[in-house]
Amino acid sequence: MKKIGLIGGMSWESTQVYYQLINRKVNEKLGGYHSAKCVLESVDFAEIEEFQHKDDWNSLTEAMVEAACNLEKAGAEFIVLCTNTMHLSSGEIRQNTNIPFLHIAEATGRAIQQQNIKKVLLLGTRFTMEMDFYKRILDQDFGIETLIPNEQDRETVHRIIYDELVKGNIKAESKQAYRAIIDKAVKAGAEGVILGCTEIPLLIQSDDVSVPVFDTTLIHAASAVEFALK
Ligand code: GLU
Repeated sequence: MKKIGLIGGMSWESTQVYYQLINRKVNEKLGGYHSAKCVLESVDFAEIEEFQHKDDWNSLTEAMVEAACNLEKAGAEFIVLCTNTMHLSSGEIRQNTNIPFLHIAEATGRAIQQQNIKKVLLLGTRFTMEMDFYKRILDQDFGIETLIPNEQDRETVHRIIYDELVKGNIKAESKQAYRAIIDKAVKAGAEGVILGCTEIPLLIQSDDVSVPVFDTTLIHAASAVEFALK
């Protein structure tokens, strides 16, 4: 079994879900007392959030590269960055380390492709929805078209992530707001929904939505286990 290097803390609310999913899945596959071999580098989210909202992507990339190098030094055999947004720095992480990096959008693209879905709604932070780094992979590597909510709805999705979900605050009215945004996209032709922020699955599950849901935390954790056991 390969040792998994997890970059976590963005937020720890979803990192703990990754840790649980990874250990449960290793045990499902190997049985007995088996659990995952992991090293975790967990950041202080206050520092990250501040850089994000100042648009200081250089400092963020430096922090991500440093975390990845620390994992490599600590004996990790591959890297799992437990957040969608900071995959913005994935190119630099790959350039500055010598171990594989399991990209969350690539894992998600494969999962969508397996269901033969061509048009999806992408929900995530403003950065993930509006910037190119995530949608480009889905489009160029998998031929998947991405829809994003309108500006006002993007603001709602983003605000709920930072004001509530990363603090573990799950509210019924926020679930309703997300469901309404998803319904609009389904009417506009979305065949599936990417929960493209690792905290959104704390709020929305597949039962809440009439089309297939792609839970990036679950997909990424499952791909980590598959890679660790390959
Ligand atoms: N965990 C979130 C994501 O998957 C948002 C928090 C962050 O900015 O890292 O994008």
